[in-house]
Amino acid sequence: MDSPRRILEDYSVAIEEGRVTEVGKTLDIQRKHTGAEVLDASGRIVMPGIVCSHSHLYGMLLRGASLKITPPSDFTQILQRVWWPVDEAMTFEDAHASALIASVEFAKSGVTTFADTYSGPNSISGVLDHIARAVEEVGIRGFVAFEATERHSKKEGAKGVQENVRFVEKIRTKPESKAKPLFSIHASFTVSDDLIKQVKTLASKYHVPITIHASEGLGDVHHNLENYSKRTVERLRDVGLLGPNVILAHCVNLDDNEIDILAQTKTGVAHNPMSNMLNAVGVAPILRMIEKGVNIGLGNDGYIFDMFENMRAAFLLHRVYHRNPNAIDPYTILEMATINGARLYGMEKEIGSIEAGKRADIIIIKPSILPTPLNAESVVGHLINTVDGDDVEQVLVGGEPIVKNKQLTTIDEEKAQSTSQTAAAKLWERLKTVRPQIDPFKK
Ligand SMILES: [Zn+2]
Repeated sequence: MDSPRRILEDYSVAIEEGRVTEVGKTLDIQRKHTGAEVLDASGRIVMPGIVCSHSHLYGMLLRGASLKITPPSDFTQILQRVWWPVDEAMTFEDAHASALIASVEFAKSGVTTFADTYSGPNSISGVLDHIARAVEEVGIRGFVAFEATERHSKKEGAKGVQENVRFVEKIRTKPESKAKPLFSIHASFTVSDDLIKQVKTLASKYHVPITIHASEGLGDVHHNLENYSKRTVERLRDVGLLGPNVILAHCVNLDDNEIDILAQTKTGVAHNPMSNMLNAVGVAPILRMIEKGVNIGLGNDGYIFDMFENMRAAFLLHRVYHRNPNAIDPYTILEMATINGARLYGMEKEIGSIEAGKRADIIIIKPSILPTPLNAESVVGHLINTVDGDDVEQVLVGGEPIVKNKQLTTIDEEKAQSTSQTAAAKLWERLKTVRPQIDPFKK
C-alpha cells in the first residue's frame, strides 16, 4: 500500500522503536541488522494492519439477542425499536465490557485501528474513558467518540458534545495514546444546524476529525427535503460541515449532485456493506463516488467484526448490484480497508501501509487452506477470496506484538469474554422493560 502499490516477495521489514525503518530484500536486511529479534513470516502474507473506518463497539452486546419487538418495516423503525432502546439501557460498565471484547475480536482478526462512536443518553459524561481504557488494555488503536444527538433535548446534545471536548482535552496531553479523539454527530435528522456548526468549530480548533451518519435510510433524506428543502449532503455543505477529515458514514441514498459535493469538498465516506444489507437500506453508489475521486474507507457499523468478511461483502455486493463482474476489483477493496481508511482520519502518514517512517502496524497471515500458489500475483485474490480473520497469526501495533500465534498477548481473553457475556445478559434483561417511543420526525 505504498504509493507505487508494490507487492514484494522475499522481502523483509526492519522495525525500530515502533516504526518501520526499512523495507528491503531479506538478505540485505539480515546483513544490516545482525542480532535483531526476528519474526519469521516465510510462506505468509505480511500486510498493513486493517483500518475499520466506522464502528459501534457496543453493537457487540446485541449479537444473537432475540428482542421481543414488533418487526420493523424500515430503517427508522429499526432505530426506534432496536437501537434507541439499547442506547437508553447502556451503562458505563457495558461500554467498557463491549469495547474490550470488540477490541479483542478486531485485534485477533487483523484490525489495528478502528473508529468507534458510542451512544447512550444515560451514560454520557466520562464514558469515553471507559472505552479508551479497553482500547489501551488490548493495545489496539481506536478513534473514540460520543455520538451527539438532540433526540430527546438540546441539553442532551450539548452534553454529548461536551463529553467529546472533555476527552479531546484529556488526550491532548498524551500524544502516544492509542485511543484518539473524534467528534461524532448522530445524523442530520436528530440534530439542529446549531449543533453541527458548533461541532465543526470545535473540531477545527482541536484538529480532530468529525463523523456523522448520512443518508443511511431514506428517512434522513425526507427529513431534510421536508424541513430544509435540501438533500442531506446539500444541507451538511450549507451549514459548513463538509471538508477533509469529515467522514460521512453510509451515504446510501445520494444523488449525483451530492456525490459531486463530496468530491469538491474532499469529504470522505465510510462504506458499511454488511450493515446496509442487514438493515435493508440499499446499496451505496460507491462506484460513482470512486469515479469522482471520493475517498472511501470500509466499516462494519458494529455488525460483523471480521473485516475480511466485510471486504468480501463489499467485493460481491457491487458486482451483483450492477450485474457487472468487473464492477469492482479486489485491490480497490483492499485499499478501502487500509490506506483509504488511514487517510479518512488524517493518519495516512502514520499508518495504512508498510513504509519506512510509518508506525509498525503490521499483520501476518497464514491461510489455513491454500489450494493454489501464494505469490505476488495471487496474494490480493487470496486476501479477498481465501483469507478469514481466523487466519491472522500475528498482529503488531507500533511494533508491539498484541497477537502471537493467534493468541492475544495483552489481556485475558476468556475473562473479557465472560465479562461481556454477563453484561449482555443483564442488558437483554433490561431491554424487556426499556421502550422509549421517540419519533424524530414528529413536528
Ligand atoms: Zn453507524
